[in-house]
Amino acid sequence: MSKVALITGGSRGIGAATALYLAAKGYNICINYKSNTDAAAQVLAQVKSYGVQAISVKADVSKESDVMRLFQEIDQDLGALTHLVNNVGVLFPQSRVEDLTALRINSILTTNVTSYFLCCREAIKRMSTQHGGKGGAIVNVSSAASRLGAPHEYIDYAASKGAIDTLTTGLSLEVASENIRVNCVRPGFIHTDMHADGGEPDRINRVKENIPLQRGGQPSEVASAIAYLLDDEASYITGTFIDLAGGK
Ligand code: NAP
Repeated sequence: MSKVALITGGSRGIGAATALYLAAKGYNICINYKSNTDAAAQVLAQVKSYGVQAISVKADVSKESDVMRLFQEIDQDLGALTHLVNNVGVLFPQSRVEDLTALRINSILTTNVTSYFLCCREAIKRMSTQHGGKGGAIVNVSSAASRLGAPHEYIDYAASKGAIDTLTTGLSLEVASENIRVNCVRPGFIHTDMHADGGEPDRINRVKENIPLQRGGQPSEVASAIAYLLDDEASYITGTFIDLAGGK
Protein backbone atom coordinates (compact mmCIF):
# COMPACT_ATOMS: atom_id res chain seq x y z
CA MET A 1 0.00 0.00 0.00
CA SER A 2 1.45 3.40 -0.92
CA LYS A 3 1.91 5.77 1.98
CA VAL A 4 0.48 9.28 1.65
CA ALA A 5 1.57 11.77 4.31
CA LEU A 6 0.30 15.29 4.96
CA ILE A 7 2.58 17.60 6.91
CA THR A 8 0.79 20.77 7.95
CA GLY A 9 3.20 23.69 8.12
CA GLY A 10 5.61 21.65 6.02
CA SER A 11 7.34 24.53 4.28
CA ARG A 12 9.77 25.56 7.03
CA GLY A 13 11.42 24.38 10.26
CA ILE A 14 10.38 21.05 11.78
CA GLY A 15 7.70 20.46 9.14
CA ALA A 16 10.11 20.87 6.24
CA ALA A 17 12.65 18.55 7.90
CA THR A 18 9.88 15.98 8.41
CA ALA A 19 8.74 16.19 4.78
CA LEU A 20 12.30 15.47 3.63
CA TYR A 21 12.79 12.65 6.15
CA LEU A 22 9.55 10.94 5.08
CA ALA A 23 10.28 11.42 1.37
CA ALA A 24 13.63 9.67 1.89
CA LYS A 25 11.66 6.74 3.34
CA GLY A 26 9.41 6.59 0.25
CA TYR A 27 6.27 8.35 1.47
CA ASN A 28 4.28 10.38 -1.05
CA ILE A 29 4.05 13.85 0.43
CA CYS A 30 1.69 16.81 0.71
CA ILE A 31 3.38 19.93 2.05
CA ASN A 32 0.88 22.40 3.44
CA TYR A 33 1.79 26.02 4.14
CA LYS A 34 0.07 29.33 4.78
CA SER A 35 1.79 32.06 2.79
CA ASN A 36 5.50 31.54 2.05
CA THR A 37 5.20 30.10 -1.47
CA ASP A 38 8.94 30.32 -2.22
CA ALA A 39 9.88 28.26 0.85
CA ALA A 40 7.22 25.66 -0.02
CA ALA A 41 8.48 25.44 -3.61
CA GLN A 42 12.04 24.83 -2.41
CA VAL A 43 11.02 22.02 -0.05
CA LEU A 44 8.75 20.51 -2.73
CA ALA A 45 11.67 20.36 -5.20
CA GLN A 46 13.87 18.67 -2.57
CA VAL A 47 11.12 16.18 -1.72
CA LYS A 48 10.58 15.30 -5.39
CA SER A 49 14.30 14.62 -5.80
CA TYR A 50 13.68 11.42 -3.79
CA GLY A 51 11.48 10.17 -6.64
CA VAL A 52 8.21 10.24 -4.68
CA GLN A 53 4.92 11.88 -5.68
CA ALA A 54 4.51 15.23 -3.97
CA ILE A 55 2.34 18.34 -3.96
CA SER A 56 2.28 21.57 -2.00
CA VAL A 57 -1.02 23.15 -1.01
CA LYS A 58 -1.41 26.70 0.25
CA ALA A 59 -4.16 26.54 2.87
CA ASP A 60 -4.78 28.22 6.21
CA VAL A 61 -5.60 25.15 8.30
CA SER A 62 -7.27 27.24 11.00
CA LYS A 63 -10.10 27.71 8.46
CA GLU A 64 -12.51 24.82 7.90
CA SER A 65 -13.07 25.59 4.20
CA ASP A 66 -9.31 25.60 3.56
CA VAL A 67 -8.93 22.25 5.35
CA MET A 68 -11.70 20.74 3.20
CA ARG A 69 -9.98 21.97 0.02
CA LEU A 70 -6.59 20.71 1.25
CA PHE A 71 -7.89 17.17 1.76
CA GLN A 72 -9.76 17.21 -1.57
CA GLU A 73 -6.53 18.12 -3.36
CA ILE A 74 -4.73 15.24 -1.61
CA ASP A 75 -7.54 12.82 -2.56
CA GLN A 76 -7.32 13.90 -6.21
CA ASP A 77 -3.55 14.09 -6.62
CA LEU A 78 -2.08 11.52 -4.19
CA GLY A 79 -4.97 9.27 -3.11
CA ALA A 80 -6.37 8.63 0.36
CA LEU A 81 -4.28 9.90 3.24
CA THR A 82 -2.54 7.27 5.39
CA HIS A 83 -0.33 9.44 7.62
CA LEU A 84 -0.89 12.88 9.18
CA VAL A 85 1.64 15.13 10.87
CA ASN A 86 -0.23 17.95 12.61
CA ASN A 87 2.68 20.37 12.86
CA VAL A 88 1.36 23.91 12.34
CA GLY A 89 2.08 26.19 15.25
CA VAL A 90 2.37 29.89 15.91
CA LEU A 91 3.30 32.07 18.83
CA PHE A 92 3.28 35.81 19.37
CA PRO A 93 5.68 38.22 21.11
CA GLN A 94 6.58 37.37 24.67
CA SER A 95 4.01 38.76 27.09
CA ARG A 96 2.56 38.33 30.58
CA VAL A 97 -1.01 37.07 30.96
CA GLU A 98 -2.32 40.46 32.15
CA ASP A 99 -1.35 41.94 28.78
CA LEU A 100 -3.06 39.32 26.58
CA THR A 101 -6.06 40.23 24.40
CA ALA A 102 -8.95 37.96 23.46
CA LEU A 103 -8.00 38.47 19.81
CA ARG A 104 -4.51 37.09 20.41
CA ILE A 105 -5.65 34.18 22.59
CA ASN A 106 -8.31 33.13 20.07
CA SER A 107 -5.89 33.45 17.18
CA ILE A 108 -3.42 31.11 18.94
CA LEU A 109 -6.18 28.62 19.72
CA THR A 110 -7.66 28.49 16.21
CA THR A 111 -4.27 27.98 14.57
CA ASN A 112 -2.70 25.66 17.16
CA VAL A 113 -5.75 23.68 18.31
CA THR A 114 -8.76 23.98 15.97
CA SER A 115 -6.58 23.15 12.95
CA TYR A 116 -5.37 19.92 14.63
CA PHE A 117 -8.96 18.84 15.33
CA LEU A 118 -10.08 19.62 11.78
CA CYS A 119 -7.17 17.77 10.17
CA CYS A 120 -7.66 14.78 12.52
CA ARG A 121 -11.35 14.74 11.57
CA GLU A 122 -10.66 14.64 7.84
CA ALA A 123 -7.81 12.14 8.27
CA ILE A 124 -9.98 9.74 10.30
CA LYS A 125 -12.66 9.80 7.59
CA ARG A 126 -10.04 8.44 5.20
CA MET A 127 -8.09 6.13 7.53
CA SER A 128 -10.68 4.54 9.80
CA THR A 129 -11.78 0.96 9.15
CA GLN A 130 -15.25 2.18 10.18
CA HIS A 131 -15.23 4.40 7.09
CA GLY A 132 -13.80 1.77 4.73
CA GLY A 133 -10.17 2.80 5.23
CA LYS A 134 -7.20 0.56 6.02
CA GLY A 135 -5.94 2.45 9.08
CA GLY A 136 -3.15 4.94 9.51
CA ALA A 137 -1.06 6.96 11.92
CA ILE A 138 -1.21 10.50 13.24
CA VAL A 139 1.54 12.43 15.02
CA ASN A 140 0.68 15.69 16.74
CA VAL A 141 3.46 18.21 17.33
CA SER A 142 2.98 19.65 20.82
CA SER A 143 5.73 21.35 22.83
CA ALA A 144 7.73 21.10 26.03
CA ALA A 145 5.81 24.29 26.84
CA SER A 146 2.75 22.16 27.63
CA ARG A 147 4.69 20.75 30.61
CA LEU A 148 6.70 23.86 31.51
CA GLY A 149 3.97 26.51 31.04
CA ALA A 150 6.18 29.18 29.39
CA PRO A 151 5.85 31.77 32.20
CA HIS A 152 6.89 35.35 31.23
CA GLU A 153 6.93 34.26 27.58
CA TYR A 154 3.69 32.81 26.15
CA ILE A 155 1.35 30.94 28.47
CA ASP A 156 -1.34 31.17 25.75
CA TYR A 157 0.89 29.15 23.42
CA ALA A 158 1.76 26.69 26.21
CA ALA A 159 -1.94 26.18 26.99
CA SER A 160 -2.69 25.54 23.31
CA LYS A 161 -0.10 22.75 23.42
CA GLY A 162 -1.67 21.36 26.60
CA ALA A 163 -4.84 20.97 24.53
CA ILE A 164 -2.87 18.99 21.94
CA ASP A 165 -1.60 16.61 24.62
CA THR A 166 -5.20 15.98 25.70
CA LEU A 167 -6.36 15.59 22.10
CA THR A 168 -3.65 12.97 21.60
CA THR A 169 -4.68 10.94 24.65
CA GLY A 170 -8.40 11.06 23.93
CA LEU A 171 -8.21 10.45 20.20
CA SER A 172 -5.71 7.60 20.56
CA LEU A 173 -8.29 5.76 22.69
CA GLU A 174 -11.23 6.73 20.46
CA VAL A 175 -9.76 5.31 17.24
CA ALA A 176 -7.44 2.55 18.48
CA SER A 177 -9.87 -0.21 17.45
CA GLU A 178 -10.11 1.36 13.96
CA ASN A 179 -6.42 0.69 13.22
CA ILE A 180 -5.35 4.30 13.71
CA ARG A 181 -2.46 5.13 16.04
CA VAL A 182 -2.20 8.65 17.49
CA ASN A 183 1.01 9.83 19.13
CA CYS A 184 2.71 13.09 20.00
CA VAL A 185 6.14 14.71 20.07
CA ARG A 186 6.96 17.53 22.49
CA PRO A 187 9.98 19.44 21.21
CA GLY A 188 11.60 22.39 22.93
CA PHE A 189 14.36 24.84 21.93
CA ILE A 190 14.62 23.81 18.28
CA HIS A 191 16.53 26.03 15.84
CA THR A 192 13.75 27.43 13.60
CA ASP A 193 12.28 30.83 12.68
CA MET A 194 9.64 30.50 15.38
CA HIS A 195 11.69 32.21 18.10
CA ALA A 196 11.87 35.38 15.98
CA ASP A 197 8.05 35.39 15.93
CA GLY A 198 8.20 35.43 19.73
CA GLY A 199 10.34 38.57 19.48
CA GLU A 200 13.66 36.92 20.46
CA PRO A 201 15.48 35.29 17.52
CA ASP A 202 18.44 34.44 19.79
CA ARG A 203 16.28 32.87 22.53
CA ILE A 204 18.03 29.49 22.41
CA ASN A 205 21.43 31.06 23.09
CA ARG A 206 19.97 32.80 26.15
CA VAL A 207 18.51 29.62 27.65
CA LYS A 208 20.93 26.95 26.48
CA GLU A 209 22.99 26.82 29.69
CA ASN A 210 19.82 25.71 31.46
CA ILE A 211 19.23 22.88 28.98
CA PRO A 212 20.84 19.67 30.32
CA LEU A 213 22.30 18.84 26.88
CA GLN A 214 23.58 22.47 26.74
CA ARG A 215 22.31 23.19 23.22
CA GLY A 216 19.24 23.68 21.07
CA GLY A 217 17.96 20.88 18.87
CA GLN A 218 17.89 20.62 15.09
CA PRO A 219 14.63 20.19 13.14
CA SER A 220 15.99 16.90 11.78
CA GLU A 221 16.25 15.55 15.35
CA VAL A 222 12.49 16.08 15.75
CA ALA A 223 11.74 14.74 12.27
CA SER A 224 13.34 11.38 13.06
CA ALA A 225 11.13 10.93 16.15
CA ILE A 226 8.01 11.87 14.16
CA ALA A 227 8.98 9.40 11.42
CA TYR A 228 9.52 6.64 13.98
CA LEU A 229 6.06 7.14 15.50
CA LEU A 230 4.43 7.13 12.04
CA ASP A 231 6.27 4.02 10.92
CA ASP A 232 5.22 0.39 11.29
CA GLU A 233 8.28 0.01 13.55
CA ALA A 234 6.07 1.73 16.15
CA SER A 235 3.09 -0.52 15.38
CA TYR A 236 2.27 -1.24 19.06
CA ILE A 237 2.64 2.37 20.22
CA THR A 238 -0.35 4.67 20.57
CA GLY A 239 -1.28 7.51 22.93
CA THR A 240 2.34 8.14 23.83
CA PHE A 241 4.65 11.16 23.95
CA ILE A 242 8.28 11.64 22.99
CA ASP A 243 9.90 14.60 24.73
CA LEU A 244 12.67 16.25 22.68
CA ALA A 245 13.91 19.13 24.77
CA GLY A 246 17.51 18.24 25.57
CA GLY A 247 16.59 16.82 28.97
CA LYS A 248 14.25 19.64 30.11
P1 NAP B 1 8.18 27.59 11.91
O1 NAP B 1 9.62 27.37 11.52
O2 NAP B 1 7.75 28.93 12.38
O3 NAP B 1 7.26 27.12 10.67
C1 NAP B 1 5.87 27.23 10.79
C2 NAP B 1 5.22 26.52 9.61
O4 NAP B 1 3.80 26.55 9.82
C3 NAP B 1 5.46 27.21 8.29
O5 NAP B 1 5.51 26.21 7.28
C4 NAP B 1 4.19 28.07 8.12
O6 NAP B 1 3.85 28.37 6.76
C5 NAP B 1 3.17 27.14 8.70
N1 NAP B 1 1.92 27.79 9.15
C6 NAP B 1 1.76 28.70 10.13
N2 NAP B 1 0.45 28.99 10.28
C7 NAP B 1 -0.22 28.24 9.38
C8 NAP B 1 -1.59 28.08 9.04
N3 NAP B 1 -2.55 28.77 9.69
N4 NAP B 1 -1.93 27.23 8.04
C9 NAP B 1 -0.97 26.52 7.39
N5 NAP B 1 0.34 26.61 7.66
C10 NAP B 1 0.71 27.47 8.65
O7 NAP B 1 7.74 26.56 13.07
P2 NAP B 1 8.56 25.38 13.79
O8 NAP B 1 9.43 25.99 14.82
O9 NAP B 1 9.11 24.44 12.79
O10 NAP B 1 7.36 24.69 14.60
C11 NAP B 1 6.67 23.55 14.10
C12 NAP B 1 5.86 22.98 15.26
O11 NAP B 1 6.75 22.64 16.32
C13 NAP B 1 4.84 23.95 15.85
O12 NAP B 1 3.67 23.27 16.20
C14 NAP B 1 5.53 24.46 17.09
O13 NAP B 1 4.62 24.89 18.06
C15 NAP B 1 6.30 23.23 17.51
N6 NAP B 1 7.43 23.50 18.39
C16 NAP B 1 8.49 24.22 17.96
C17 NAP B 1 9.54 24.46 18.84
C18 NAP B 1 10.78 25.23 18.47
O14 NAP B 1 11.63 25.46 19.34
N7 NAP B 1 10.92 25.66 17.23
C19 NAP B 1 9.48 23.97 20.16
C20 NAP B 1 8.38 23.25 20.54
C21 NAP B 1 7.36 23.01 19.65
P3 NAP B 1 4.50 29.66 5.99
O15 NAP B 1 5.90 29.28 5.65
O16 NAP B 1 3.65 29.85 4.80
O17 NAP B 1 4.44 30.80 6.96
